Amino acid sequence: MTAKPQNKYAFFEGKFVPIEDAKVSIMTHALNYGTGAFGGLRGYWNSEEEELFVFRPYEHYERVLASAKMLMIDLPYTRDELVNITLQLLQKEGYREDCYLRPLVYKSESIIGVRLNNLEGQFSLFSIPFGRYVSNEEGARVGFSSWTRVSDNSVPARGKFTGAYINSAFIKTEALLNGFDEALVLDDSGHVAEGSAENVFIVRNGTLITPPVNADILEGITRRTIIQLVREQLGLEVVERPLDRTEFYVAEEAFFCGTGVQLAAIIEVDHRPVGTGKMGPIVRDLRDLYFRVVRGQHPDYRHWVTPVYAQVPSAK
Ligand code: PMP
Repeated sequence: MTAKPQNKYAFFEGKFVPIEDAKVSIMTHALNYGTGAFGGLRGYWNSEEEELFVFRPYEHYERVLASAKMLMIDLPYTRDELVNITLQLLQKEGYREDCYLRPLVYKSESIIGVRLNNLEGQFSLFSIPFGRYVSNEEGARVGFSSWTRVSDNSVPARGKFTGAYINSAFIKTEALLNGFDEALVLDDSGHVAEGSAENVFIVRNGTLITPPVNADILEGITRRTIIQLVREQLGLEVVERPLDRTEFYVAEEAFFCGTGVQLAAIIEVDHRPVGTGKMGPIVRDLRDLYFRVVRGQHPDYRHWVTPVYAQVPSAK
């Protein structure tokens, strides 16, 4: 049984509808073959300003459209129109708390046959109130997965494809059943890719290191945000290069980042403490900075947050 949704609306087949009416057929191509792509954005409630801010929506929709392009889905919406639909949906919901948004593009035809070409696509969007994603953001215990990350020549990790998340589900399930909070996963070459649904960084000799964009990772918007914040605000070096598994064993600090996880310290990898085994000073500073930035409380990064209620919606 599923809980009664706390959200009231969805954008579905070109219009806003009650959430109960946003339903697809069991014959839907995307449901049968995983031929969809999704996004995940957060809205942060700022109580001083009585405003809800969506974090980097333009960048998120650029990635949704890039995934759609790879799937040969030609949406009738521009990036800016998708942001506008998102703001309208949130205005209708009227949240005064943090929330999460789930845009989806999918092959919507009821048809048997595995292919990408000559198939109709649709866009849908819903939102939910949302707090934490990982229960242990202050200190995640992590194990390396026995699974391998999907690779660019089979299921490209660069696209946020629905079908590809079976890989993440295998990885996360194994980790949880083995008693870890999360997993790290290696790519085909044996280098570290990312977590089940988050990018990863370590700190070695005061430098931040993260796998490059061709290491079968999702090109995370939080990852990009962190790289810029570290360089501009902490004045530390960030290097994108292949990472070995055992570098986590000797790192001073390590952390996950992503829209869902936000910024979670990794305090243990494969039963070995990372650094002191507690959240380190760089992760602590970065988390403080990140939470101010996403809530619109840092003047230098106001352009990354889009206010929901201050907008005058354009009718559509
Ligand atoms: N990697 C994977 C596999 C993910 O699913 C996510 C979550 N979208 C991320 C990384 C982090 O990406 P972002 O910072 O854009 O949310």
